[in-house]
Amino acid sequence: LFIDQPLSPGGVAALDGDRAHYLRAVLRQGPGDGVLAFNGRDGEFLAHIETLSKSVGTLRMDRQTRCPANDAPPAPWLLFAPLKGGRTEYVVEKAVELGVGRLVPVFTRRGDVNRVNIDRLRANALEAAEQCERLDAPDVADGIDLQKLLSDWDPARTLFVAAESGVAQPLVTAVTASAGKPVAFLVGPEGGFDQQELDALRRLPFVVSVGLGPRVLRADTAAFSALAVWQAAGGD
Ligand code: SAM
Repeated sequence: LFIDQPLSPGGVAALDGDRAHYLRAVLRQGPGDGVLAFNGRDGEFLAHIETLSKSVGTLRMDRQTRCPANDAPPAPWLLFAPLKGGRTEYVVEKAVELGVGRLVPVFTRRGDVNRVNIDRLRANALEAAEQCERLDAPDVADGIDLQKLLSDWDPARTLFVAAESGVAQPLVTAVTASAGKPVAFLVGPEGGFDQQELDALRRLPFVVSVGLGPRVLRADTAAFSALAVWQAAGGD
């Protein structure tokens, strides 16, 4: 259970209405029941529910079960063009399971969707983090235009652009060469990037074009494939 408060052995955390409802109505738990709690900073604690009503409650931390993973390699970012019909939520959920550190919805010229419900995506990310027992809560950034994203980019973070055509190196080679360094993956919309976008991307010194095999993958598959390759090549 994600609790946005400091956690320590013996400490008490207050549950707000949202967390109290989730415990009572979704997990069907009550006073005395055990819960694993994390806050993205202090590791994980086995806690028990001390009090619980419809709109409020308290958790007591019994003992620490996992320490914060301070030596983990930096988690990759996923920059993706939002998709139609619930597939954006699906991308968020699966990317969180595969270890993404930050998700950034990016608006491109051929994108199908030009607005996203960020609050809903943040809730999806938190839920997925709880489900897969992560110790952190991945960040979901506000949606941003591709051009603006690139003009503000920190060049220390390599940007792997998934491109099914043109000169691209296999992703596994590229991520192995960047092991331990901050990286991001950019996946285009179902209609792909347009040629001007690809040309502009390829001119940037921090961009590396990468291929994900000989077939044209759906955008969501491309995102999961990139993250899975990163994980298999030594990511956490
Ligand atoms: N019709 C589009 C085109 O030809 O550009 C296909 C776009 S594909 C459905 C959606 C996105 O997935 C692409 O923009 C690219 O980022 C990524 N992608 C799909 N297959 C890929 C592959 N084999 N290698 C690298 N990226 C791929």
